Amino acid sequence: MDDITQTLLHYKGLVVGVWLAILLVGERLVPAVERVGGWPRVLRNVGFWILNVGLSLTIVVPLSYWATDSAIDWRPQWFAGWLPLAVDVIILDFLIYWWHRANHVVPVLWRFHEVHHLDEFLDVTSSVRFHFGEVLLSAGFRALIILALNIPLASILAFEGLVLLVAAFQHSNLSLEPGRERAVSTLLVTPSIHWVHHRAVRADTDSNYGTIFSFWDPLFGSRSPTQRTPDLAMGVEAEPDVSFIALLIRPFRYRN
Ligand SMILES: [Zn+2]
Repeated sequence: MDDITQTLLHYKGLVVGVWLAILLVGERLVPAVERVGGWPRVLRNVGFWILNVGLSLTIVVPLSYWATDSAIDWRPQWFAGWLPLAVDVIILDFLIYWWHRANHVVPVLWRFHEVHHLDEFLDVTSSVRFHFGEVLLSAGFRALIILALNIPLASILAFEGLVLLVAAFQHSNLSLEPGRERAVSTLLVTPSIHWVHHRAVRADTDSNYGTIFSFWDPLFGSRSPTQRTPDLAMGVEAEPDVSFIALLIRPFRYRN
């Protein structure tokens, strides 16, 4: 195993854990908007988190490891180190942008992704609220990308780490100084961009698809002109949030 992979394996969990703790405390001490939904909502999201940690350990991570091991090794030897890793992160984020967009457009994918959007308030716990069907479909998509592009394990670890850090941040209810947030949002997806994606108005839900980098949306014409304000209603237009069990069953229900 090379040095970069070792470093990432050592520090990824620690960095993500500390960052989550900072955001969880920060959004309670200095919230951007008044909380909605209370503890039942938080517990629902924690339920998804527990399920998804279990899935990650048993299926998602082993599948990614298997794919990095099984891909045909066509990359030249000199294409190694931090620069190729940065290139891989940008390519993966580009592909995840389109995967996220497909999740909004393809009805069967939206059935699962809708569970994430039905949350009627946003905070750090929203960033782990994903239906197991979406988690498994995303893992399959990622494995295909790894196999096709011969993405090494170090790139996957770096990308997954960045996704966790930025996703927790962009869903958080942390109050941020507008000038500083604007500066960060020229490169990364911040709450002011992502909260609009969670607005309970379909035109806004179907916009702002970026995960890590904020430049894909303006580049591909999917940036919403809506500005985040404290009174924006979160969720899915005309669809109220439901219980944890109802959310688990929801994608499999018959609909006309
Ligand atoms: Zn979405």
